[in-house]
Amino acid sequence: MEETLNSELNKSCANCGAELKFKPGSHQLNCAYCGYEEFIEQTKRSFEELELQHYLKVVGENAYTETIDLLNCKNCGANQHVEENYKSLDCVYCREPLIREDIEKEGWILPGALVPFQLDIKKAKAIFKNWVNGIWFAPNKLKRAALDPEGLHGLYVPYWTFDSNLDASYQGQRGDYYYETQMVKTKNGMRPRQVQKTRWSPASGTVSGFVDDILINASEKKRRDIPKKIAFWNLKELTVFNSKYLAGFVTEKYTISLKEGHHRSFQEAKRIAYSWIRRDIGGDTQRIGHADIKLSDETFKHVLLPVYLSSYMYKGEEYHFYINGQTGAVSGTRPYSFWKIFFLALFIIAVFALIAIFAQ
Ligand SMILES: [Zn+2]
Ligand SMILES: [Zn+2]
Repeated sequence: MEETLNSELNKSCANCGAELKFKPGSHQLNCAYCGYEEFIEQTKRSFEELELQHYLKVVGENAYTETIDLLNCKNCGANQHVEENYKSLDCVYCREPLIREDIEKEGWILPGALVPFQLDIKKAKAIFKNWVNGIWFAPNKLKRAALDPEGLHGLYVPYWTFDSNLDASYQGQRGDYYYETQMVKTKNGMRPRQVQKTRWSPASGTVSGFVDDILINASEKKRRDIPKKIAFWNLKELTVFNSKYLAGFVTEKYTISLKEGHHRSFQEAKRIAYSWIRRDIGGDTQRIGHADIKLSDETFKHVLLPVYLSSYMYKGEEYHFYINGQTGAVSGTRPYSFWKIFFLALFIIAVFALIAIFAQ
């Protein structure tokens, strides 16, 4: 592995020496000062799927392949990697100021792949502004937050993805519906009615298949998570990791270990196995009594996925907005303006009072 994320290797413009930044929606680095552009070399090899058991058993928790400069947020616990000349040193999640002197070198399992940002910050701001303008009864301060350029950051969020072969043997029951005519009491006396019944028969068998890309968020903070609503990326656009894609963005280091991520992925594999078993049993309904689920040839990747986010305080409360950096999907929490609702209510009462007066 040759990639390193140490600040010595910062990317500067061959033309004017200014810092180069990744240009979203492209495979280029761009100089904001002189317009110089540099292509990010595309590796021919496909990204590595790392063999899971090797990492879990042999190298275990200390399976680090590279070191990274990290700032740990004392407030929310997020680990952030920032490029050397990054202007803002506030935590992207909670706006807590981060102190550059607190930079620590830490090991990490190098990302195998990432989905590069497709939307630039201008586009993200437009989506964000649109969303804010579309919500009702928002305090004016919220609209100001949407205009604040420091309030919106592009962040690469860490995920684990797992692939494996799944084999499961099961025992259960297949239920087939049938109908019986029964006499039921109604207002007009006894009437025949069709009643649905289930005939159960024993079922057992095996199912197997390949489970592709179970995605587990590897970022655990004390407060919150990327909302499910925007957490869908087209993983077909995963690109071999190159630290040049990180230039100009913040990167978070996983806080959920590979072992814990694997544990969570098994729950998802189990859910998949159960749906396969139900299909295999067939019939109208199924009961699963026992299922023995085995995963083999497990591999994993550490991947980075793009999100824009903003957080701000309003009357002692924290609110958050998220935009998927690939698809533009948006989600957020919002305050309501007491006064806007109050005055609207007052206005409606006044209108009705006037109507009542004129009606007399
Ligand atoms: Zn330049
Ligand atoms: Zn924080």
